[in-house]
Amino acid sequence: MIKNNSIKAFEEAKKFIAGGVNSPVRSFKQVNSNPIFFKKGKGCYLTDVDENIYIDCVSSWGPLLFGHCDENLIKSITDCAKNSTTFGAPTILENQMAKKIIELVPSIDLVRMVNSGTEATMSAIRLARGYTNKNLILKFSGNYHGHGDSFLTKSGSGLMGLNLPNSLGVTKNTAKETLNAEFNNISSVKDLVKKYNNKIAAVIIEPIAGNMGLVKSKINFLKNLRQICDENEILLIFDEVMSGFRVAKGGAQEIYGVTPDLTTLGKIIGGGLPVGAYGGKRKIMEKLAPNGPVYQAGTLSGNPLAMSAGLSILNKLNDNVFSQLEETSSNIQEGIEKIIKKYKTKAIIQRQGSMMTLFFTNLKNIRNYKDAQKCNISNYSKYFNIMLENGVYLPPSQFEAMFISTAIKDNDINKIIHANEIALKKIK
Ligand SMILES: *Cc1c(COP(=O)(O)O)cnc(C)c1O
Repeated sequence: MIKNNSIKAFEEAKKFIAGGVNSPVRSFKQVNSNPIFFKKGKGCYLTDVDENIYIDCVSSWGPLLFGHCDENLIKSITDCAKNSTTFGAPTILENQMAKKIIELVPSIDLVRMVNSGTEATMSAIRLARGYTNKNLILKFSGNYHGHGDSFLTKSGSGLMGLNLPNSLGVTKNTAKETLNAEFNNISSVKDLVKKYNNKIAAVIIEPIAGNMGLVKSKINFLKNLRQICDENEILLIFDEVMSGFRVAKGGAQEIYGVTPDLTTLGKIIGGGLPVGAYGGKRKIMEKLAPNGPVYQAGTLSGNPLAMSAGLSILNKLNDNVFSQLEETSSNIQEGIEKIIKKYKTKAIIQRQGSMMTLFFTNLKNIRNYKDAQKCNISNYSKYFNIMLENGVYLPPSQFEAMFISTAIKDNDINKIIHANEIALKKIK
């Protein structure tokens, strides 16, 4: 596989862009490699600047449910652009988008559009604090909620609840206001709620976590979480930036039947343009400016191009789409699992619908961040690079999920499985 042009492009990028990339995971650092520069996508096929072709199993980290250059989407955005790309004033498209979200996610009475998942989660916790008049946020180790200061914290060693910044530039005082509990461990939540009695504004969770690899919540864990929040007047926020419209039409909350107070959305909602949203119960959302005292705004929020892109995707969601995604993804999973068995690879696959992760681990399952941390990342790195050589583009990190699109057909599934045979044979 020739990478000359990608290597040259990265050398140039490093002269002008901090670290050579506009988001760290793209650097391929986690897989000890040089980033690939892409120039074209069509359906599930990617072409890089050296003319290599790959099957795309990342889908831009989720947004491209129907693959690249979906016809409806291209038509919507080109038609829309002819009438201007932004007014900074209301458009009918925003009404259509809001109605569509509310139809698909019944827990949302009112919604606000923003420009990224990060903005959605930052705004949601501000609203939760404003609504409850409390300061602390409780999140789970290994969940990712974007790069807002409040979320870049980690548990302090051994000292429960005393948290530390996870990035320079995040102040200790900010970190102190975010508590970290263990995913799928309800007693870790109970302990913190007891210790910080009446001070917690919100619990935020990825109900189906995709940012430590794919890790599902246990149903009782989520139900208990809902109950604890109710008993302590804590708002429950589902961060469905990744799982929303991906695991089911109505997201993880539809699958689990657990209703959050607020939901954050992103990725698919923009169909590949920069969009996020948050919404929830009317009485909470009404606290937002201009009607209420919690401020949040955005020059390009709800801009017509992004709304038309997102709507063209959301309007296509139906049960057939999700059953097709399920079939494709389960065929991929079964195919790889056969190879894992054949070569006795120390690996497992965890999957929910079209999101899945192959974990290199001795464990039977990955339940939380601690389990995920025990994975063999050097094996993942080998696996990623062999798969790439064989024409399959996977997430360049063990701690991310694959995202399957409807553009992946039977012959592509066979190619993916064949590449796995080559890769897993070599990894011991
Ligand atoms: C991607 C992601 C975010 C951040 O969204 P950006 O658009 O990258 O800012 C937040 N939460 C979850 C669960 C995500 O997967």
